[in-house]
This record gives sequence, structure tokens and C-alpha cells, in this order.
Amino acid sequence: MLKIENLKVKIGDREVLHGIDLQINDGETHVLMGPNGSGKSTLLMTIMGFGNYEITDGRIIYNGRDITHMPIHDRAKMGIGMLFQRPPTISGLKLGKLLSAVSGGKTGDIPAFARTVNMENFLERDINKGFSGGEIKRSEVLQLMVQRPDFVMIDEPESGVDLENIALMGNSIAQLLQKDQHIVNRQKSGLIITHTGHILNYIEADFGHVMIDGQIRCHGNPREILSVIKEKGYKECLACQQI
Ligand code: ADP
Ligand code: MG
Ligand code: MG
Repeated sequence: MLKIENLKVKIGDREVLHGIDLQINDGETHVLMGPNGSGKSTLLMTIMGFGNYEITDGRIIYNGRDITHMPIHDRAKMGIGMLFQRPPTISGLKLGKLLSAVSGGKTGDIPAFARTVNMENFLERDINKGFSGGEIKRSEVLQLMVQRPDFVMIDEPESGVDLENIALMGNSIAQLLQKDQHIVNRQKSGLIITHTGHILNYIEADFGHVMIDGQIRCHGNPREILSVIKEKGYKECLACQQI
């Protein structure tokens, strides 16, 4: 589904990603860990196609097509979706209106999705305006549910979310990654950034990777990697290629 080859990315005049290789096959969910500032969000923003991220080398292949320089809305149309770590507030745009716009005409499903994440009373409110941390995240998950991406990227779903909302987020994200019952052979894949690893209690993650200083330094079983990090810290990942 997604293949990244030797990806180098600059923000301003500083190189943040120094040659990333990553392959995510149909139906796989991968987890990305690593210290703050190592470049995890940068990788997701670059895959999504945001403008501040200048690709100086390498390429991104999605479902066999080179999307390295494709505009963000075309990537979204091809089925790439993202949940941000710090989503913006959008004054003057109602959540319900945005959901209708991204639903691909399937507006009838919106109320049921909204109920799943307890957001049915938020559809007439401006996006994220005055929302609590948990409400912002639930609103973002709802947008993804309605958009139905095939490749789902999620940046730190646990950050700023209390325990009750983590369960709701975790279960909703698991639902997002489930195969679409109505469309044969439509496998969904995911790339999820996590610090705490809480999300691993809710989803089936196939592979874990650790990013340090703009390079992926370690691959393996996500739970094993997490327990090594918790016991010995990220420095242990510098020595490892495979756990
Ligand atoms: P992570 O998500 O792993 O915490 P980021 O990808 O957010 O790391 O950041 C990687 C590096 O790039 C950090 O040093 C950060 O300060 C820098 N960076 C990220 N976004 C910007 C930006 N918009 N302008 C300048 N530097 C940025
Ligand atoms: Mg961070
Ligand atoms: Mg980040």
C-alpha cells in the first residue's frame, strides 16, 4: 500500500528526515515510536503532503503511484487520511458541514458515526472551538470515520486525552482500521505514532519502528520494542536493527 524510499525532508533550511525507508502492506498497521523532536510528525505530514515539508530526495509510492509531489487533496481522494497531534480550531465552519463535505455523498451515515464517538451534539458547533482535549480528538476520529480512508495515519492519539476517552479513541481507531464489510478486498492499513503505547491495548499492530534524530533505527514487534524502551530507554534502540 505505502512504500517510502530514502526520504529526505527539510523544514526551512534544516534537514529533519535523513533518508527514511518504510513499507506498509495492505492490511498492516505499523506503530512509530521515538523521542520528542525526532521527526515522527514530520514523516506523517510529509506523507499527507503538507507544503512546509520540502522533499529533497527519495520518493513516496502509494498503491503503485508516485505521490511524492502530489497535492494534498489528491492524496486524500486516493484514500489517505490523517489525525493530527494538534488539530487547528476553525471558526465559522460547523463540524456537521465539514463532515458532509468529506462524506463523499454518504451524509446519511453521519449521525450513526457521531453517536459512536459521543459527538452527536457537536455537529452545529465550530470545529474544535472550545472543545476539550478529548472532544477535539473524538471530533478528528469522527472526520476520519466519515471520510473512510484506506490508509490511516494517527499522530499520538493518547496525548491530552483522559483514560475514559482513550478507551473510546482506541476502540474507534480499531474500527477505522477494520476491513470495510461492504467492499470486497478493501484492506485498510495504518501508521500510528504513540509515546505511551496505550493504543496497543485496542488495536492489532503488526510492526513497530523507532525514529531517532530523523532516522528509523529499530524495527520489530511493537510490544517488545515498547518494553525495551520502558526498561532501558531509547538509547537501546540505537544499537538495534531488529528486536
Ligand atoms: P516528533 O513528532 O518526533 O516529536 P517533529 O516531526 O514534530 O518531531 O519535529 C522534528 C524536528 O523538526 C524538531 O526539531 C522540530 O522542532 C522541527 N520542526 C517541526 N515542525 C517545524 C516547523 N514548522 N518549523 C520549524 N521546525 C519544525
Ligand atoms: Mg512529539
Ligand atoms: Mg510529533
